[in-house]
Amino acid sequence: MVPAVRAVLDMAAFAHNLACIRRSVPESKIMAVIKANAYGHGLVRAATALSGADAFAVARVEEGVVLRQAGIGQRIAVLQGFVDEEGLRLIHRYRLEAVLHSRFQLDLLEQTELPDPIGVWLKADTGMHRLGLSELEFAEARCRLAASPRVRQPVPAMTHLANAEATGDTATALQLDHFQRTAGVVGEFSIANSAGLLAWEAARSAWVRPGILLYGVSPFPGRTGPEEGLKPVMTLQSRIIAIKRLHPGDAVGYGGEFVCRRPTRMGIVAVGYGDGYPRRAPTGTPVLVCGRRVPLIGRVSMDMISVDLTDCPEAEPADTVTLWGQGLPVEEIARYADTIPYVLLCNLTQRVEMAEISA
Ligand SMILES: *Cc1c(COP(=O)(O)O)cnc(C)c1O
Repeated sequence: MVPAVRAVLDMAAFAHNLACIRRSVPESKIMAVIKANAYGHGLVRAATALSGADAFAVARVEEGVVLRQAGIGQRIAVLQGFVDEEGLRLIHRYRLEAVLHSRFQLDLLEQTELPDPIGVWLKADTGMHRLGLSELEFAEARCRLAASPRVRQPVPAMTHLANAEATGDTATALQLDHFQRTAGVVGEFSIANSAGLLAWEAARSAWVRPGILLYGVSPFPGRTGPEEGLKPVMTLQSRIIAIKRLHPGDAVGYGGEFVCRRPTRMGIVAVGYGDGYPRRAPTGTPVLVCGRRVPLIGRVSMDMISVDLTDCPEAEPADTVTLWGQGLPVEEIARYADTIPYVLLCNLTQRVEMAEISA
């Protein structure tokens, strides 16, 4: 039986997108960011499909452990590092690399006996004010690490850009200046996320850290992955489970917010916020039926949405419907739902079946 909702994953698109990034930054090594279950695509699945990456980045120690247990051999950086001795020991045991972003971690590292050194990245806060060391702390940490038997040398310097997708903004230029003051000009650096590596040449250092681009999605507002030469990996599909005729004046769904103005052929599609389809998607949000865009009408329910099929007379029960992906960019749905594509991809729920294809 075809599942009610499935995320069809074009596994060849991963390699295509990685190659596309390589062409943009031929001088850089690529640390593929696969945190949050690879933006909803499946952690181990993405790591396997992205075997051409030079390293992986995850947010948390647990994610790194899962990758190692699945036999992934590449370097794996843990962006949040460790917060206690147990985390540090797991990083050592599973040959993960810790991003050091606070003095607290440095103290813990110096106090903990380890049989051999671990790989670390030293993170500077250059203006985002989330994780990272100040200029002064960074200099001190660098000295301590250079003298530490606990770490492998050399230690690359890292920072994160808060505004790289705003290409006309001055914030990124300020951060890049700040980083150069903090980290100097000698050594290996890692600065750019997806937007940074495309939009900011000065952010293209030894290492780049693309996330969203790998999944075929643009980081820039108002643009889509295909416009960057990428292929969306995920296509979210469901099926029509009922069709009925409504009359002018008939209200549709919870709250009765949508009222038919014309004789309407309405389709019910078996997807809802219980699958991760955004509840805030308003009437008019496009849905792809028989290769045609039709508008969502009324409120999104837990397991269903309603669509107007009046102008799509060939649609029938059991027909496949695309909610986003190939032919309907997730960026566009995010705009309708007043969110960002990252959220839509990450928020698919457990009951959505993942189906790999290699188109
Ligand atoms: C998530 C993340 C990235 C990747 O960001 P994208 O916008 O998806 O490319 C890079 N670096 C850090 C530190 C991150 O947290």
